[in-house]
Amino acid sequence: QNEKDSQFIVSNWAKDHYQKLLHESEEGESIGLSYLMQRGLNQTTIKTFELGYSLDQWDDLLKAAQKQGFEAKYLEKTGLTIVREDDPNRRYDRFRGRVMFPIHNVSGRVIGFGARTLKANDKTAKYLNSPESDIYHKSDVLYGLFQARQAIRTEEVCYLVEGYLDVLSLHQGGIKNVVASSGTSLTESQIRLIGRYTDNVTVLYDGDAAGIRASLRGIDMLLEGALNVRVVLFPDGDDPDSYIRKVGDQRFKEYLDKNSQDFISFKTRLVSQEAAHDPVKKAEAIREVLQSIAKVPDPIKRQVFLQQTSTTFAIDEQVLITEYNKLVKKDS
Ligand code: ATP
Ligand code: MN
Ligand code: MN
Ligand code: MN
Repeated sequence: QNEKDSQFIVSNWAKDHYQKLLHESEEGESIGLSYLMQRGLNQTTIKTFELGYSLDQWDDLLKAAQKQGFEAKYLEKTGLTIVREDDPNRRYDRFRGRVMFPIHNVSGRVIGFGARTLKANDKTAKYLNSPESDIYHKSDVLYGLFQARQAIRTEEVCYLVEGYLDVLSLHQGGIKNVVASSGTSLTESQIRLIGRYTDNVTVLYDGDAAGIRASLRGIDMLLEGALNVRVVLFPDGDDPDSYIRKVGDQRFKEYLDKNSQDFISFKTRLVSQEAAHDPVKKAEAIREVLQSIAKVPDPIKRQVFLQQTSTTFAIDEQVLITEYNKLVKKDS
């Protein structure tokens, strides 16, 4: 039995342990389960995603693991426990008093955890994640893909959201083709992973302007991955989870259909607004859009985007194409 197998086994065991605590312990039910219910999740969703709860104690998992005969080194390697700084022979649980979100690989095996605090004024992070291990490579994983992969194939589009709760709420609302990048900016291998299932991605941002600006770069990477990218914006302050809770499943789906826009057109409008009456800024904005267009591998699509850009910015198409060619030459 090799190293990785042992890490898979201990992770799966921990998932079972946290799940039992959520459903069968007094603390888990009254704090963890009631929190999830209050966030609108039902039993089916909670079971489908194998959600759990970690007791608010220093060594509950550690003790239970020892009782099962697990070697401490595997708890350590999977990040379930942390070595004490003052005494390297002693350890404590990483996740305490949190709702546990097991992270699965595409074949459904648990490889790590996300964990949300339930305290309103927690001084520590709202979400904690397992550290990298031999079985958990954060940059290769999309949360929810195991539960979403079938639906992504049949619906022929993958919805990309930011958070765990966004995945859960949409899945529960009947939108099962949804995955999260979980707070990290998108990586090439996550994009390749999506590309195995579909060519079409629709990005559902949290509705804050800062977030939108910051995510533009990640979206350029989706284009480079030869994916067709659409974007949906939510009202300021809402994320997909809060919005579907607010308007209900049906209106949420209608909202997606009505408000999804092609990414390049979206970016073109966004930067052209920002640059409205300033010629210097406008030139910069145009170059920024051209950079994105240059990432599109399909020449026919590029041509269509160039036409659109020329219209939006009211710039002669030939001038734009000359500029585009200069830019591409410079980059290569
Ligand atoms: P909630 O609705 O439970 O408050 P959220 O998913 O809307 O959570 P965001 O603040 O929008 O939370 O963050 C999106 C995602 O980014 C989270 O689901 C989580 O994966 C990650 N994240 C957020 N805050 C942290 C943090 N402090 N440390 C690590 N990851 C985080
Ligand atoms: Mn956010
Ligand atoms: Mn959010
Ligand atoms: Mn949220």
